[in-house]
Amino acid sequence: MGMKQVVSLPAWILVAIVAGLGLGFASSALGFHGVVIDYVKPFGTIFIALLKLVAIPLVLTQLVLGVASVRDLRQLSRLGGRTLALYFSTTLLAITVGLLLVHLIAPGRSLSGADRENLRGQYATEVESRAVQAGELKRRGPLQPLVDMVPDNVIQALSDNRAMLQVVFFALLFGIALICVPLEKSRTLMEWFEGLNAVFISMVKLILYLAVPGVFALMASCVAEFARDDPARALGLLGALGLYFLTVLGGLLVLLVLIYPLALRFLARTGVMNFYRAMIPAQLLAFSTSSSSATLPVTLRCVEDDLGVPPRIAGFVLPVGATVNMDGTSLYQAVATVFIAQAFGMDLTLMQQLAILFTALLASIGAAGVPGTGLVTLVIVLEAVGIEPGGLALILAVDRLLDMFRSVINVTGDAMVCMVVTAWEKGATPQ
Ligand code: ASP
Repeated sequence: MGMKQVVSLPAWILVAIVAGLGLGFASSALGFHGVVIDYVKPFGTIFIALLKLVAIPLVLTQLVLGVASVRDLRQLSRLGGRTLALYFSTTLLAITVGLLLVHLIAPGRSLSGADRENLRGQYATEVESRAVQAGELKRRGPLQPLVDMVPDNVIQALSDNRAMLQVVFFALLFGIALICVPLEKSRTLMEWFEGLNAVFISMVKLILYLAVPGVFALMASCVAEFARDDPARALGLLGALGLYFLTVLGGLLVLLVLIYPLALRFLARTGVMNFYRAMIPAQLLAFSTSSSSATLPVTLRCVEDDLGVPPRIAGFVLPVGATVNMDGTSLYQAVATVFIAQAFGMDLTLMQQLAILFTALLASIGAAGVPGTGLVTLVIVLEAVGIEPGGLALILAVDRLLDMFRSVINVTGDAMVCMVVTAWEKGATPQ
């Protein structure tokens, strides 16, 4: 019964996006953007908080139940291996698409010297803070992400929304341990988890009642903050960076309308239209929240309820993907790096392009699925190819906007892999 509401939801969310954009621009043109930031934005923040609130408990119960119901560790490690292999290969493919497009279109060559200096002046302080954050990330060794995956305190892991992988790790361990316990001892706990899981699922449905006002508030405040009291300046910035913006968008579109449909058709052997129709609520939410982690509870519902993915697969593949797999972000990082190099008149060698491929892969694995992380880890990619982080100033103006689009692809890519893994698991599971 519940899914009926979600099915009719996309149209309303779309209305909320358009109306929110309208209010944002009006507030900027008429000078009341401050009111929007003070009185409308909090409702968007509340909506995101609610989604995040339910994400960790939902992942925990779903994954524990998933593992415990498999009751076969070989099957589990095969699932893990396939998921990671698919995540790595789609990310590498995304970066390659980005590199090809940015060389073909060469948006950096069309940025005028005056625009370049203008942008550098305007964003100097913001660049500084991103560079500091990236420096902190980088000081950790190459295997640090692996170390970070293992929590030393489960309460701490559960209390940190950025520690999704730690929660996944604990849930796997808990599920495996549950299998090892004799059934008469584990039965009550399993029922307990089943009950909790049902409650969290229904909580997601309740939270979705707030999706329309939440999305409206998010969009309005996003535009109000971006344009401030000068919509003309905002549009002017978009103009200067238009070709770069379109290159990233074009790359994301290639993934969305070419690569994913091919994978769905030939690897998952599933209906492409059916997939995209089911994914609309998650995509719209990813667009308006710019966060794959906040969208996770809804993505789970879309693939399980509408696409029939078994919870044990979705409960593993999607939470891992929300942190590890970011096709949109990695494509964007490849385009942004080469764009900045082009604007600085640098010619990148083959080795430098390979460095982009490698570091963008690592950067997208290390980035959490929250707004703007792709921008922070981009600094690491820039440094790997020897571009000074100050170059970030050239792309900051449109980054918030691109964040929305790349988050949609991040979420869609996770769900696509989920479909492929499901098809493969079905093929491989005896009887
Ligand atoms: N906002 C993106 C996400 O959550 C990450 C990024 O590219 O900044 O998927």
